[in-house]
Amino acid sequence: MEGKCSVYARNGKVFVRLADSFGSEKRGAGYPIGSNIIAFIRLDFKSGIDKLFTDYIRLVFNIDLCVTEEDYFRQKKELAEEYILKMPFLYFAFKTLQDCLDDYIDRKDFNGRMADVPNYDKFNRLFAERYEEEPQKLYSEFSSVIDQKVFKKFSKAEVWEECIRYHLFLCLKDALICNLEETQKIFREEMMYLYQREKSETADSLTPKQRLYVYDRHRNKTTGRPMFYVNVSRSVKTLAYTEHNPSSDEPGNINGLAEYVKENDVDLLDVQEIVSFDELMRFEMLRLVESDTVISKCENCGNLFIPRGRKDMLFCNVIVPELGKTCAEVGAHRKYNEKVKVDAVFNAFNKAYKRNNSRVRNKKMTVPEFSIWSEQAREKRELCVKGEISVEEYNAWLGNK
Ligand SMILES: [Zn+2]
Repeated sequence: MEGKCSVYARNGKVFVRLADSFGSEKRGAGYPIGSNIIAFIRLDFKSGIDKLFTDYIRLVFNIDLCVTEEDYFRQKKELAEEYILKMPFLYFAFKTLQDCLDDYIDRKDFNGRMADVPNYDKFNRLFAERYEEEPQKLYSEFSSVIDQKVFKKFSKAEVWEECIRYHLFLCLKDALICNLEETQKIFREEMMYLYQREKSETADSLTPKQRLYVYDRHRNKTTGRPMFYVNVSRSVKTLAYTEHNPSSDEPGNINGLAEYVKENDVDLLDVQEIVSFDELMRFEMLRLVESDTVISKCENCGNLFIPRGRKDMLFCNVIVPELGKTCAEVGAHRKYNEKVKVDAVFNAFNKAYKRNNSRVRNKKMTVPEFSIWSEQAREKRELCVKGEISVEEYNAWLGNK
């Protein structure tokens, strides 16, 4: 399967091998089962991915600035690696963009390839409207991304043509992101049903794998879409794999070979060839439901996450952008503040209770008066814990100083 993308699972991890030269030395890096699905459903496309795709298009349109071909390939690889090594599922959208851009560089027709991308039409129509209304703006947008050195090489008519091509690539980028967002929605709903649905005795008694079937069949019946997990053929090959590249210098005799297998951690693995985003993600989803991975919902941001360490973690470890802190940090702080507050409310009650108790002993308050008072004090304590009255108001009512 050399030169193709493939995926296999081993020891709780998914190993993805991508075609082309995405970090050859890091090829086959393992991802904990389910982590790609969680990363995908939590992804904010408008920030990083949009920038990656746009930067890549800009690089190609400024290709003349690259001194050598190697220089261009190095820059291109650097751009993609940061994202694609972390999130291999982005590879297929990126590859589509790359194939179109390669055709553009080779002066081949890329329009047909673009038109095959779902949602491309929609963005192309929006572009046509803008083209009618504000061609000048399109032009100035283009001139701001093109280096002046490159710009000067073209005649005015050529610049305008380049400008149109550049905007067609932006349409493609928007379509690719739109498709990813639509798929994200599907995966989110699927994961919620599998791991965080409303309590249901029947669904709860099923295994995650059975629930996956229920959800897939339900979706198939209600939307008419073909099922994702049933009647799907896959191209699987059983290979002897190590986590590094398999080598051909294996010893001939059986004892030596056994020694070699032990030393190099060789294993027989079912390696599946993948040609699309869906194949990659569905592979991982099937491994996920077979595993006993715990998926929790973060009490701070509401997103799904895989608890690392303690299985009963309430908060995820993702940074909340507005605060620059992780949900775990925000959550711990919030929990602490809540505890401090509850402690203060109970202390206020205890203080007044002791005082009135001694008044009863000193005959300054009757027993029935004390019962009525303590019942009211408990009711107000409840309101104070809920936040309906403040701790100060409660203290004032109790007569604490
Ligand atoms: Zn969170």
